Amino acid sequence: MKDFIHIKGISKLFGDFVAVDNVDLEIARGELFSILGGSGCGKTTLLRMLAGFEVPSSGTIEIDGTDVTHQAPYDRPVNMMFQSYAIFPHMDVAKNIAYGLRKEGVAKQEIDKRVGEMLELVQLVDFRNRKPEQLSGGQRQRVALARALIKQPKVLLLDEPLAALDKKLREQTQFELMNIQDELGITFVVVTHDQEEAMTLSSRIAVMNEGRFKQVGTPKEIYEFPHNRFVADFIGTINTFEAVVTVVNEDGIEAYSDEAGETLSALGRQLIEVGQNIEVAVRPEKIFISKEKPEEAGDVCIEGVVDDLGYLGNRSLYRVRLNSGKMVQVSSQNRRRSITRFLEWEDKVWISWRPRSAVVLLD
Ligand code: ATP
Repeated sequence: MKDFIHIKGISKLFGDFVAVDNVDLEIARGELFSILGGSGCGKTTLLRMLAGFEVPSSGTIEIDGTDVTHQAPYDRPVNMMFQSYAIFPHMDVAKNIAYGLRKEGVAKQEIDKRVGEMLELVQLVDFRNRKPEQLSGGQRQRVALARALIKQPKVLLLDEPLAALDKKLREQTQFELMNIQDELGITFVVVTHDQEEAMTLSSRIAVMNEGRFKQVGTPKEIYEFPHNRFVADFIGTINTFEAVVTVVNEDGIEAYSDEAGETLSALGRQLIEVGQNIEVAVRPEKIFISKEKPEEAGDVCIEGVVDDLGYLGNRSLYRVRLNSGKMVQVSSQNRRRSITRFLEWEDKVWISWRPRSAVVLLD
């Protein structure tokens, strides 16, 4: 992967407060990269440093081979898409989109041509003469996108691009955004607090907390192989078992867990030693639930009692109480109608999973 954006040891202090703490990051050309984290974790500050609206306290930013750390925003090959309310209410759609080029004094003919292309791209050709108030939230968002893209930046920065939209529209707009990014091949860096959005949109995600990256990886890596408790909890639901390591293998470990009443195997690439306290984590949908003890050799298999259950149409959720009192969440796809009929509250059940479905969490 050739780095296109290269962030090295970037920090930002506001007085004594460290908003961004020594972050390193490489983003490839054409990536749709998301910075994901809760409120106040520093993601907007990081984006603003990329845009040039904030000067780093230390570290460097390179874009396409040029050190831009101390360049003014307008000198960078970067544009930022603000939320949809940043479009001008008194200008129609076409004028809003043309704004950046008009300010630069680009010839009218060229402006008309590029506005036409942008209207096509964001599918607003028939809306060119409307004022923002005559548009839906999703259409306004597309105007803001077109306005940012018309200047043909190498990098587009998007701060919570879909936050103003309701859930249904947000999902639809996510796909439009992905298609447009794919068509243009421009590198997108998106800041969001919405994990589903980040998972759907991104080629890779950085999960951020208290100014630092807790993990950087593809959506699949982040979901399937979270490195730590924070990432595991932030993305989806996960069951964790406190355990003490008894064996270390090439790509994983075995650990005894009082909570599970069993020795558990798990994948783990971090440095782990025998005797170390860890957590073994497994997602609810990786766990099988059955009345009969499963006979799959090598699977982890624990007895418990159904404490609670919920039917959600396409799947059922169970809370299973183990002998230790530990509650485990299980999510089971309802492929056959019969499955849920067999399980009731207080039923004795077996929960089981493949050893490779579990991962080690260190902190
Ligand atoms: P949100 O999703 O709530 O916008 P965020 O992750 O984008 O959160 P930032 O805006 O990057 O968070 O802010 C990170 C931290 O830095 C916050 O605690 C914030 O209060 C602080 N901060 C941001 N800008 C300034 C500033 N100009 N002066 C002082 N503190 C600031």
